[in-house]
Amino acid sequence: ALSLRDLNKSFGGNAVLNGVSLDVEAGEFIALVGPSGCGKSTLLRILAGLDHADSGEIFVAGKDMSAVAAADRNIAMVFQSYALYPHLTAGQNIAVPLAMKRLSRTQRLPLVGSALPGQKEIRAGISRDVREMATVLKIDHLLDRKPGQMSGGQRQRVALARAMVRRPSIFLMDEPLSNLDANLRVHARGEIVELHRRAGVPTLYVTHDQAEALSMADRVAVMIGGSLLQLAAPEAIYNDPAHIEVARFVGQPR
Ligand code: ATP
Ligand code: MG
Repeated sequence: ALSLRDLNKSFGGNAVLNGVSLDVEAGEFIALVGPSGCGKSTLLRILAGLDHADSGEIFVAGKDMSAVAAADRNIAMVFQSYALYPHLTAGQNIAVPLAMKRLSRTQRLPLVGSALPGQKEIRAGISRDVREMATVLKIDHLLDRKPGQMSGGQRQRVALARAMVRRPSIFLMDEPLSNLDANLRVHARGEIVELHRRAGVPTLYVTHDQAEALSMADRVAVMIGGSLLQLAAPEAIYNDPAHIEVARFVGQPR
């Protein structure tokens, strides 16, 4: 479903990604783990089209993404901060990608940074798709609240709903649970896995938390210093680390 070939990226002569190749299969959930600064967020940002690799290729369903703008990639991303629009209600936030999708590129561009596209539509049109997604994520009762009036866990679910509502072909998450307290985090893990089972969208999920990777993922990818050192089922990573640095990373006390 998603195929990366030999991605390289440097910032000012500092190599951050060293020939990263990875395949995410249809319906698969891959957890990407590795020490702070190893390049996880950089990789996700490049996949989402928010940054460019120096070299390498990205294919989504066999289609080369190099000339495809971020908004046209149909790759959804959830950030650690959730990045909800503070002045819009939950329902309006979830409706934004749907409104965006209906506009052409030239209609979209002049709107960036000023009014959101399809304001009227967003305000009025809590559409059927928004309601359905809200039901799946159990946030029906929150659709009229603004982000400032919701808890961290509720905001996280709104961010998930906003990402999923346009039915992306790839789902990227960058530590989406790290702002939640321990109890909520364990609960949210289950919800995300359940959402993944339902929708079957191939997912690349970045986490610091090894328990999260173990309990949620079909396969775990271990990245150290910009290189993918091992990609295997969670048990295999722990039982049989392929590299001394993988052993060091997964063996460290949590
Ligand atoms: P963390 O787990 O702490 O979030 P990460 O694995 O997501 O870390 P990245 O954010 O991808 O790490 O950063 C990888 C390296 O690239 C770091 O050394 C970082 O300082 C550097 N880096 C990231 N973005 C930029 C940028 N825009 N300009 C210069 N250096 C950058
Ligand atoms: Mg990061």
